[in-house]
Amino acid sequence: MKQICLNCNKTFYVSEGNYRGYPQWFRGHWDNENDRFIPDGEVPIQNKVFHARICMDEYLFKYSAYLTPIFKQLKEREVSND
Ligand SMILES: [Zn+2]
Repeated sequence: MKQICLNCNKTFYVSEGNYRGYPQWFRGHWDNENDRFIPDGEVPIQNKVFHARICMDEYLFKYSAYLTPIFKQLKEREVSND
């Protein structure tokens, strides 16, 4: 899937099981039988909207005034669903 980085406009390509694009999720385990890493879950490829970690960090910094209230709302929702 073709993506354009939200921060720097660079074009990059993501597919399931490749390690391009951010955000990423790294927790998982190694499957010795098939000699590959099995992640616990994967960020849906359409949600990998940054080409590099630095672009994600820069974007979070740039829009923190807008994003922080959203993050806090998500946290409140999470707490009230427990
Ligand atoms: Zn970028």
